Amino acid sequence: MAKVIIIGCGGVGTVVAHKCAQHPEVFSEIVIASRTLSKCEAVVKAIGRPNVSADRVDADNVEEIVALFERHKPELVINVALPYQDLTIMDACLRCGVNYLDTANYEPKDEAHFEYSWQWAYADRFEKAGLTAILGCGFDPGVSGVFTAYAAKHYFSAMETLDIVDCNAGDHGKAFATNFNPEINIREITQNGRYYSEGEWVVTKPLEFHRSLTYPNIGPRDSYLLYHEELESLVKNFPTIKRARFWMTFGQEYLTHLRVIQNIGMARIDEVDYNGTKIVPLQFLKAVLPNPQDLGENYHGETSIGCRISGKNKEGKPMTYYIYNNCSHEAAYRETGMQAVSYTTGVPAMVGAMMFLTGKWNLKGVRNVEEFDPDPFLEAVAANGLPWHEVIDGDLEL
Ligand code: NDP
Repeated sequence: MAKVIIIGCGGVGTVVAHKCAQHPEVFSEIVIASRTLSKCEAVVKAIGRPNVSADRVDADNVEEIVALFERHKPELVINVALPYQDLTIMDACLRCGVNYLDTANYEPKDEAHFEYSWQWAYADRFEKAGLTAILGCGFDPGVSGVFTAYAAKHYFSAMETLDIVDCNAGDHGKAFATNFNPEINIREITQNGRYYSEGEWVVTKPLEFHRSLTYPNIGPRDSYLLYHEELESLVKNFPTIKRARFWMTFGQEYLTHLRVIQNIGMARIDEVDYNGTKIVPLQFLKAVLPNPQDLGENYHGETSIGCRISGKNKEGKPMTYYIYNNCSHEAAYRETGMQAVSYTTGVPAMVGAMMFLTGKWNLKGVRNVEEFDPDPFLEAVAANGLPWHEVIDGDLEL
């Protein structure tokens, strides 16, 4: 039984709150805190349980987070605000003796660049304080890393290639909308791609490589090579991997909008002067785009995210392995009022918190999810709405 604070009350935070509230035996008290108190209060009302309450915090400000922690004295904070707040929240955790979990690695506001170094630099301090920070515990990063750890534990003596494949075959009926925070999403997609090959990082132009991949229950979809943060920790933690890549599907309509947004300067993250006011074009764009939280109602279809791995099995013979989850937008909406992208991120965040609070994940320091035992996590993920499937020695297409 433990008290948790969820920071961030967007699409993902809403799902985390709903899922934690389904397990009062683990999460005895839940506080949802964000910049806009009214959003937190609305989620508290929708959940309607006496052990769930709302508070307000600006998580860019360490002192405000410290005050929040002192008011509530949580055992763990689940950070599902934006990647910009990771370090301030980790600083407050060290000040107050609070454990930490997030779903996205730190990114400075003024540079579209993400890597683990900033958060890994906290490892000694968390370890010395006897605290745990679990990094990247959404779906990808998150379940993608746990899937890889599960493959290593149960099937492979040496994994050689890893391809993480992420398909959203849903249709929300809007001309253009992003499935999670538009600012973070557009920054991720418009930067150079990168993949790991024979000990080197190979840089590609944004969305330069694509190929058709076939997703279970969905069919073939154009999939684009992107850089994704979990590649960095996975090649470090599984050094037999010779090639690691990440693929995501995009429709032509989405890509055309994205190209126009970039060409007209609306993806810029530097300040421009507008009638004497400084604005960041991408932040302004976010204000006029559909809110990802509001997409759920008319969203049809499903997501399919998994890992395709090749290498040597435990007997040293070549094998391929594909492990994946498909998640329905409609089912996610019926349960939490949010679409499947928020759902597939929020469920693993709750399960990671559950693993920590029940002592099943008990390493101290700053850890990526693949460092923990994958078995209890994957059992709980399946039991909490994200069942997964395996294909052994199938055609990986890659
Ligand atoms: P939203 O934009 O819907 O929500 C973000 C929330 O963070 C809002 O409630 C916002 O509050 C709050 N917030 C922003 N800045 C601050 C601040 N300074 N202090 C306090 N609260 C703040 O985003 P999503 O829910 O879609 O995404 C949340 C996180 O999940 C992101 O970091 C995203 O990168 C990550 N993610 C991870 C995935 C994975 O698989 N690993 C997949 C999808 C997302 P307010 O509304 O009041 O401004």
